Amino acid sequence: MTSIRYEDEEHRKRREAQRRWVAKHGDENRARAAKWRAENLERARAYDRARGPHSTPLIGERKRLTKWASQIVRRAIARGEIVRPEIGECGHAGIIESAHADYSDPMVFRWLCQPCHRRWDRLEPKTKRPY
Ligand SMILES: [Zn+2]
Repeated sequence: MTSIRYEDEEHRKRREAQRRWVAKHGDENRARAAKWRAENLERARAYDRARGPHSTPLIGERKRLTKWASQIVRRAIARGEIVRPEIGECGHAGIIESAHADYSDPMVFRWLCQPCHRRWDRLEPKTKRPY
């Protein structure tokens, strides 16, 4: 949880009203958003791609991209759109990660075990190209 420093009384009131709204309607709103997403999966994914990674100046470009891509994958797993396999494409079990060759579409990736993912990234660096 991040704590908020209110700019002024007006800002505090607005944020509290938002919080009350989310407490009251958050579940139905999330359910509606999830339903829309399930029915419009391609549009939702095009939207994710178009929106791109959030820019956080504190995080380096490489980390920002990898974090963004893995988060999109993690959310797709949480929604039940895809399932993380027990065994990676490399044939190994263990920690299976989504390995991206290109971050322009975070839903295009290979499932690799962690050591194979690290090796692949070392042998073929993915973020040397400008994005
Ligand atoms: Zn492997």
